Amino acid sequence: MNAWIIAVGSEMLTPFKVDTNSLAVTERLNAIGCDVRFKAVVGDEVAELAALFTRGIGAIDLIVCTGGLGPTQDDITRDALTLALQVPADEDATVIERIRQRFAQRGMTMPDINRRQAMVPRGAVMLENERGTAPGLWIERAGTTVVLLPGPPREMMPMLERVIDDRLGPRAGAAGLFRRVLKITGRSESEVDERAQPIYCQWTRGQDVPISTTILAVMGQIELHLTASASTPDAGAAALDAAVRELEQVLGTAIYSSRGQPLERVVGELLIRGGLTIAVAESCTGGLLASRLTDVPGSSAYFDRGVVCYSNDAKVAWLGVPGELIADCGAVSEPVARVMAEHVRARSGTSVGIGVTGIAGPGGGTPEKPVGTVVIAVAAPGETRVQTFQFVGARDMVKFQSTQAALNMVRLLLCN
Ligand code: ATP
Ligand code: MG
Repeated sequence: MNAWIIAVGSEMLTPFKVDTNSLAVTERLNAIGCDVRFKAVVGDEVAELAALFTRGIGAIDLIVCTGGLGPTQDDITRDALTLALQVPADEDATVIERIRQRFAQRGMTMPDINRRQAMVPRGAVMLENERGTAPGLWIERAGTTVVLLPGPPREMMPMLERVIDDRLGPRAGAAGLFRRVLKITGRSESEVDERAQPIYCQWTRGQDVPISTTILAVMGQIELHLTASASTPDAGAAALDAAVRELEQVLGTAIYSSRGQPLERVVGELLIRGGLTIAVAESCTGGLLASRLTDVPGSSAYFDRGVVCYSNDAKVAWLGVPGELIADCGAVSEPVARVMAEHVRARSGTSVGIGVTGIAGPGGGTPEKPVGTVVIAVAAPGETRVQTFQFVGARDMVKFQSTQAALNMVRLLLCN
């Protein structure tokens, strides 16, 4: 089964709003083995949308369209489909009644314009919307199924799930596309590809379960997306497990997750498994490290505290860094980072302490310590590791990469 996705809404043709619905729709369609061949964002223009429907109907198996099902003049999706199908639309009394009741529950009377939402192109089936007034529609014509869903994601999502479970899934059978996301840090994209490419290029040709691979470099990490095309979920999972094992052999501990988890969650799990706690002392990351660690639900089990000591005075007064050490080595130096990590660990009585100090830029760099120089120390029972990094990019990128490197140092220390 092949599909088109259409997102309707003029706001998504401005710089202020992106179409995220199509990503969710793509993910759910892929999971039932349905390929997305084309997607579009269309403004609230009846003629343009109708022309697109006309082009798709008879040419593709499925069109999923989101948005523009509301009651106002700019909600034109129903009209455009009616126009493209060249059928009359009838007012559906049960839909009007349902909308009337939704308003009544809130102590309001249904405005007359909402009657538009009850206009159903002849031959279409209504899809109930439990979270809003706009019902969806399902209609089949010339070998094409057209599904209309409302725009607001919280209304669209449960309706999409139901359409997949009740209507599209059974049609597709058990076959599908199955995904695994490997996350890697501490290596460059070309290093990763050099090692992984000879392996993943074997997975496409002449295999029972072909797997396609895409490599994605995002800030501070590399992602390998593996997509297996299999006849059953079990066959997909088995092929992906084997593929991951092959990659683990060449990439080793550089892979921090083979289930798409963020690094802070992986670190959290390691801390919980070891019954360990953690405290952080941050300078250049300004609290971002503590923020990421506490993004994980349940982090109170291991995260004790974080201090942001930005000025040299604060490092001296709160983190026990000797003033002479800063004078001799500079605030961005391995001895200072070491004291920060060891001191915050000792003061808070945690198992692990982290110290981060660096130059996020754009100012403050010197020839010896250019912008992007960041020193990170991790103090653990019996061992303190200190490492100097040289990151590139703007201030926010240096800050994020610093937290990524710090979390990765903790992970590697706890793995061993
Ligand atoms: P409503 O009854 O709320 O008007 P609707 O089906 O007419 O429902 P739209 O008016 O097109 O939906 O969109 C309502 C809101 O839903 C938009 O302001 C936007 O915030 C969100 N939305 C619409 N389409 C998308 C999309 N493709 N991706 C993300 N958000 C979307
Ligand atoms: Mg609307």
